[in-house]
Amino acid sequence: MGAKQTRHRSVLVVGGGVGGLATAIALARRGDEVEVAELKPDWSVAGWGLLLTGPALRSLDALGLTDACAAEGYATSGEAVNCDSSGEVKATFKVPSVLGEGRPVEIGLARPVLLNILRGEAEARGVRLRTGLTVDTLAQDPHGVTACLSNGEERRFDLVVGADGIRSAVRDLLGQSGKPEYTGQMVWRALVPRPDWVTTVHTFNGSQHGAGVIPISDTRAYVFLTENTPEPMVYSQDELADRMVELMADLSGRAAELRAAITDPEDVVRRRVETCLIDGDWHVGRVVLVGDAAHAPSPQMTSGAALAIEDGVILAEELDRNATVEDALRAFSSRRLERGRHLVNISVEIAEMYIAGRLLEAFQLLRDGHAAMARRP
Ligand SMILES: Cc1cc2nc3c(=O)[nH]c(=O)nc-3n(C[C@H](O)[C@H](O)[C@H](O)COP(=O)(O)OP(=O)(O)OC[C@H]3O[C@@H](n4cnc5c(N)ncnc54)[C@H](O)[C@@H]3O)c2cc1C
Repeated sequence: MGAKQTRHRSVLVVGGGVGGLATAIALARRGDEVEVAELKPDWSVAGWGLLLTGPALRSLDALGLTDACAAEGYATSGEAVNCDSSGEVKATFKVPSVLGEGRPVEIGLARPVLLNILRGEAEARGVRLRTGLTVDTLAQDPHGVTACLSNGEERRFDLVVGADGIRSAVRDLLGQSGKPEYTGQMVWRALVPRPDWVTTVHTFNGSQHGAGVIPISDTRAYVFLTENTPEPMVYSQDELADRMVELMADLSGRAAELRAAITDPEDVVRRRVETCLIDGDWHVGRVVLVGDAAHAPSPQMTSGAALAIEDGVILAEELDRNATVEDALRAFSSRRLERGRHLVNISVEIAEMYIAGRLLEAFQLLRDGHAAMARRP
């Protein structure tokens, strides 16, 4: 380990999602001058909700943001509940309480709300947030990185962070291996009013597909459904609510109550379930990948955002500890790889169990995944 580095660095973060913003905040907190380049023309966000599990809250706590998330989301009871297709409870487990007594165990939150909180904090910390912008080329020498941005600017940075998601362009620019793999499943999500009994995560084992519900505020929850489909059908937005209801047809009891609440196609989103892992270094010289660009577990594990936020906090720790950027990135990569690999592998196994109809076993494996994530990275 080298001497503590005190010089403030210039950092370009490519991608303004969960991982990019968390990383920008963590680096700005240590005094770095940080700029975020987000490809989208604005800060609109797709997707209804996220479950922030214990490890996500531990990292958000390090950034001083857990209480803001708790105030705007729904702190669950911390019990995971698995039911059969009639709604009868078959198994439960207590999710590890990472923050301890009197603090939230898990928080369900609308994705746009989390991103608003992260963006507000980044701005307050002096991060320069730019939209409609990406990086076209990166060239490195021993003293820094020259980035040509898509608006024609040529800029020098001490460090570049690729936080541009599962289809990372920065990963391609680095020539790193790792590409999204389709699991054979589509995930459906519908925003619904929160029934009183939805105080924690429930999953339902259908005969063909798995479904579930997560509370995201006092008034709202989202229903999710994992459809097994080797060749995904194409549907128009107008068809989505009806099709999701059809896929949940074999569920009764409480799940039928949820199904009845899915009426507006505009409240339904659907996307491919994919995973990705760079099973090696996540950095080349002074450029490093974080979040889904390096490791994307399937959503059944509800841990991708937790890993992405953790990346930002740990990258800042390693930059504090190491004398050079290259040393810090080397330490970061080797500290993170095993955890990323473990979580992606568990999530792939869970996806395979879903496809094989072994949903109760998948629920048990989920418990193991949460236990692994609860351990301090
Ligand atoms: C359906 C679903 C449900 C999920 N539920 C959960 C959950 O409950 N809990 C949990 O912890 N995780 C969950 N995840 C995983 C979680 O959403 C991701 O792991 C997390 O968002 C990863 O953050 P990221 O910043 O790495 O990537 P992203 O959130 O994908 O952000 C990447 C950002 O980079 C931008 N970008 C893309 N390309 C470029 C480019 N070339 N230049 C500049 N910017 C670019 C994108 O527009 C985006 O803003 C879920 C995932 C899915 C698909």
